[in-house]
Amino acid sequence: MSIRVTIVGGGIVGASIARVLSRYENLKVHIIEKMSDVGWGVSKANTALIHGGYDDDPQKYPLRASLCVKGNRLWQKWVKDLEIPHVWSGALIIALQNEDIKHLSTLLERGIRNGVPEMRLVEKEELQALQPGIASEATGALYVPTVGQIASPRATVAIIENAVKNGVKIHLETEVQGIKVSDGEVKGIQTPRGFMESDVVINAAGLYADEISRMVGLDYFTLRPRKGEYLIYRHGIPGPTRVLFPTPTPKSKGIIVTTEVGGHLMIGPNAQDMERDEKDNLATTEEGLKEVLQGARKLWPGIPDRGVIRTFAGLRPEPPNGDFIIRAEEVWGFINVAGIRSPGLTSAPAIGYFVRDILRRDLGLKLVPKRRWYPRRRDITRIAAIPDAQRDRKIRARSEYGQVICRCNHITKGEILDAVERMKYINVKTPSIDSVKFRTGATSGECQGSFCMVRIAMLLAQEYGVPLWNVTLKGPGSELGIGDINSLRREKK
Ligand SMILES: Cc1cc2nc3c(=O)[nH]c(=O)nc-3n(C[C@H](O)[C@H](O)[C@H](O)COP(=O)(O)OP(=O)(O)OC[C@H]3O[C@@H](n4cnc5c(N)ncnc54)[C@H](O)[C@@H]3O)c2cc1C
Repeated sequence: MSIRVTIVGGGIVGASIARVLSRYENLKVHIIEKMSDVGWGVSKANTALIHGGYDDDPQKYPLRASLCVKGNRLWQKWVKDLEIPHVWSGALIIALQNEDIKHLSTLLERGIRNGVPEMRLVEKEELQALQPGIASEATGALYVPTVGQIASPRATVAIIENAVKNGVKIHLETEVQGIKVSDGEVKGIQTPRGFMESDVVINAAGLYADEISRMVGLDYFTLRPRKGEYLIYRHGIPGPTRVLFPTPTPKSKGIIVTTEVGGHLMIGPNAQDMERDEKDNLATTEEGLKEVLQGARKLWPGIPDRGVIRTFAGLRPEPPNGDFIIRAEEVWGFINVAGIRSPGLTSAPAIGYFVRDILRRDLGLKLVPKRRWYPRRRDITRIAAIPDAQRDRKIRARSEYGQVICRCNHITKGEILDAVERMKYINVKTPSIDSVKFRTGATSGECQGSFCMVRIAMLLAQEYGVPLWNVTLKGPGSELGIGDINSLRREKK
């Protein structure tokens, strides 16, 4: 008999759980996501690092400590199987003062205990050779070669596409409003689109996981948003080849300096505790950005005053005691996967397997492996990144691959049409610029869409068969109004 599993939340964590559970014949897995695309919650705005796992104290944060290291190993395979853009640049955790060196030794010991491979302390001379351009005050560092970076929202898309290929059903623009419990068991979820019967409900709702938990009467934790702000610079401003961290504090890993997967210098985040009701407050602030700049310059003094192309902020869902909350609750069939703050992106694949084991061990379910499961997913071909001969062949087969739409990142019309096809594959109902951006990189270059956004909107309108002014930036409520600005006013009446 099939077991109906509903995952609340289509972020990196919900997606990873779904992918792991899609391996089993007797599970019918559904993801419910309130936004109009996947990966638009916490998973959209973060540093996108695959952490090494040296930082999490196993005594205080046992789940973070073990799942981060396992997640790091799993990502090394997942990025290949799912063709997720990535770079294994390694990280340097920098000592700027003598007392930092002692702290780095503690991190080294902790990393060894957590099972992090290949770490070592490096002295000033080697540090300057490993990373030319680093601050001259840097007296040494902890070198962690296994740290990597991925394209974070693209990763969620890739995992979801693979999960859907393997039978997972996804319901976008569907908000969970209630969970029915009877006789101490989960019965299903209530959404504006109707009631969905479920035997198991997995709460992977990011910042809102405390609210979902309250729907079954469990209110033993509250999540507080902790904001982190960033600056991204235009191409050509040199960044480091490794990820640079300061020596961490108990509150955060500190303001880092990196060259992100798209090749831009990126600095951030700071850590600012917000009120409980500020889960939508993604505004950047002048003081916050100044703090980031000052912190980053201590490690990488060459950061110029000009050349910023974008600032943004993300919100970490901070659990009360700092560790992830992942467990089967006393309401049978309800599993909390909450408080997934950093290193949640790194840990996500390992969280998937951890939840699979909860189904087996705590719920006593027997899972039957599928005879045929597809491990791979192909990414959209980056026309600008392939050899000339291959590009010629692609353009001969489809002329749209020869028409550049996003001039900054050299993204062609063919790639945008591929993105639209992928959006439809996972049932994206509302055509949005951000859906194209997080599949192709279009609009994320120096001009931030000034040149290409209208042309992308025209393609979206054409492919979705909607008026141009109904195309949105990021889902319903963010209509661009291109061609008929009054349509925005008329629709509000
Ligand atoms: C500033 C910052 C920097 C970070 N840096 C790193 C890093 O470098 N490395 C790392 O490993 N981790 C990092 N993290 C942590 C990482 O980003 C998170 O742990 C991870 O993205 C959490 O994913 P999630 O799927 O749990 O949450 P989300 O991505 O938020 O997914 C939850 C989903 O649930 C949906 N949802 C909520 N309520 C409902 C409802 N009622 N009905 C239906 N759907 C609902 C939301 O719309 C959302 O899409 C960082 C986080 C921040 C904020």
